[in-house]
Amino acid sequence: MSEQTPEPGQAQEQEHGRTRQGAPQPRRVVVVGAGMAGVQTAVALREQGFTGTVTLIGAEPHQPYDRPPLSKAVLLGKAEGSAFDVDFEALGVELRLGCAALAVRTDAHALDTSEGPVPYDVLVLATGAEPVRLPGTEDVPGVHLLRTLDDAERLRPVLAGQQDVVVVGAGWIGAEFATAAREAGCAVTVVEAAGRPLAGVLPAEVAAPMTAWYADSGAVLRTHARVAAVEPGAVVLDDGERLPAGAVVVGIGARPATGWLAGSGIALGEWGEVLADDRLRTGAPDVYAVG
Ligand SMILES: Cc1cc2nc3c(=O)[nH]c(=O)nc-3n(C[C@H](O)[C@H](O)[C@H](O)COP(=O)(O)OP(=O)(O)OC[C@H]3O[C@@H](n4cnc5c(N)ncnc54)[C@H](O)[C@@H]3O)c2cc1C
Repeated sequence: MSEQTPEPGQAQEQEHGRTRQGAPQPRRVVVVGAGMAGVQTAVALREQGFTGTVTLIGAEPHQPYDRPPLSKAVLLGKAEGSAFDVDFEALGVELRLGCAALAVRTDAHALDTSEGPVPYDVLVLATGAEPVRLPGTEDVPGVHLLRTLDDAERLRPVLAGQQDVVVVGAGWIGAEFATAAREAGCAVTVVEAAGRPLAGVLPAEVAAPMTAWYADSGAVLRTHARVAAVEPGAVVLDDGERLPAGAVVVGIGARPATGWLAGSGIALGEWGEVLADDRLRTGAPDVYAVG
């Protein structure tokens, strides 16, 4: 391990005066979250010569996968999945899938998971984001999110069956889903509370051409349309209009998946994001954040 490529935690060890230059000790790095950021962290550790143990923990049961194809090839049935082309075994990365992190005890350097405690020397937080749900729709049948491989697989029959779909939210997910659903032959109506697509994401002049995506694909875009309720088979707008919907896809944003860090002492920002410095160090010793 060269000085140019310090091991995770080495900087802090140097600050604590504990680094044994030239004789790196085996260390346990635990990466929580097996998405793009977590996988890249594990791979980069090996690429840069880290010889300690690397454990990659992911809540989902699937082999780690890339999300962008979910709203494209996977949704349309053109690809069965989008697993990363990484040989974790050959890299010496231990995968623990279907294992949810529940809490961190930073004093004890221990991660509590659904499968029991996992000790670490260095912990990397890479739990990414989770979709915002439309309040009151949790138990309504036919309401979907699009964040995970399971979500995409649940939506494939909707497209294959050419159901009428109402998409709530004209953001990136709404645009991508609407385009794919139109390609599959579904009738698609997109309802957006703001006056234009991607409001709050891009400036109006940048987002303006994207409004054309909807018309080009044959989707109906309804701006200034606020959802009052979702019932089985229909979306009800706040002016009382009912939009029939064989399926409803909610794409109203995502927020950091950091609820499990409550009480850990790791500082979170206004939106629940992990606060880290320019070297990705959180305020807790030996805990980093990526993604
Ligand atoms: C459908 C879709 C299409 C997209 N298309 C594009 C695109 O075209 N271009 C683009 O730039 N970006 C796109 N994105 C965004 C991109 O996928 C994200 O920016 C990227 O996934 C972020 O990676 P991440 O590793 O930080 O987080 P995530 O991908 O969110 O991964 C975090 C992982 O941590 C796991 N996790 C969460 N909590 C826990 C816990 N407590 N314990 C254990 N594991 C946990 C999750 O299961 C997840 O696997 C798309 C996203 C989606 C959903």
